Amino acid sequence: MKNITITVDVEEDCPPMLTSTRGMEEGLPELLDLFKKERIKATFFVTGMMAKQYPDIIHRIPEEGHELGCHGYTHTRFDRMDKEEARTALKQAGGVLRQFERKLVSFRAPNLQFPKNYLGLLEDEGFRYDSSIAAYKPPFSRSKVEGKIIRIPATITSSFIRLPPEFFIPLLKRWESPVIFVHPWEFVDMSNTSIRLDCKFNTGEKALNNLKVLIRTLKAQDYGFLTLQERAKLEKYE
Ligand SMILES: [Zn+2]
Repeated sequence: MKNITITVDVEEDCPPMLTSTRGMEEGLPELLDLFKKERIKATFFVTGMMAKQYPDIIHRIPEEGHELGCHGYTHTRFDRMDKEEARTALKQAGGVLRQFERKLVSFRAPNLQFPKNYLGLLEDEGFRYDSSIAAYKPPFSRSKVEGKIIRIPATITSSFIRLPPEFFIPLLKRWESPVIFVHPWEFVDMSNTSIRLDCKFNTGEKALNNLKVLIRTLKAQDYGFLTLQERAKLEKYE
């Protein structure tokens, strides 16, 4: 059976360019409502800060059957922290997120930047799966096991689903089992903010509708919608 993993990186709006949280207030509830209506499961990588600030909406993630994963404590890049700072950030994030989900096993670093020599920290903090690598940019990573951590790359960059669906769906289907990622703020109209064009084009209703078209098209073709940990269990490694 073909499958897809939808992942959502839950953070403030377009960090570090903005510090607003419209995505948390408007975008995330819309996404959860869409997934509920379509009866599909996803993985949400949440920063500890956002979980602390928005506990009610974060509670919905495990309650509605989705996987809750970790996206750091703040959105600070791990490759700009020394090892002890990285350990502290992981501990702080884990401390908050485990109040919502005791089985916190999946991780994705902000900006998909996580030094390889920090992988042991993930292991120490109880994580098993890492999705901080990318298949769409050098070194074009594939799924692999490093130490005790299973690493599963994101297949395509997040703005991809804001392109016209008739263009991106055929491309996406070329992948065996793609991992896509989106952000709550992409489902809020960001056209009037002063951020990079690639961050704001087709945000809001258009993005939400594209995601709906994607979900419905793949459902009609019998795709399974797997969380990251479900998918990791099916994966074959070299
Ligand atoms: Zn992020």
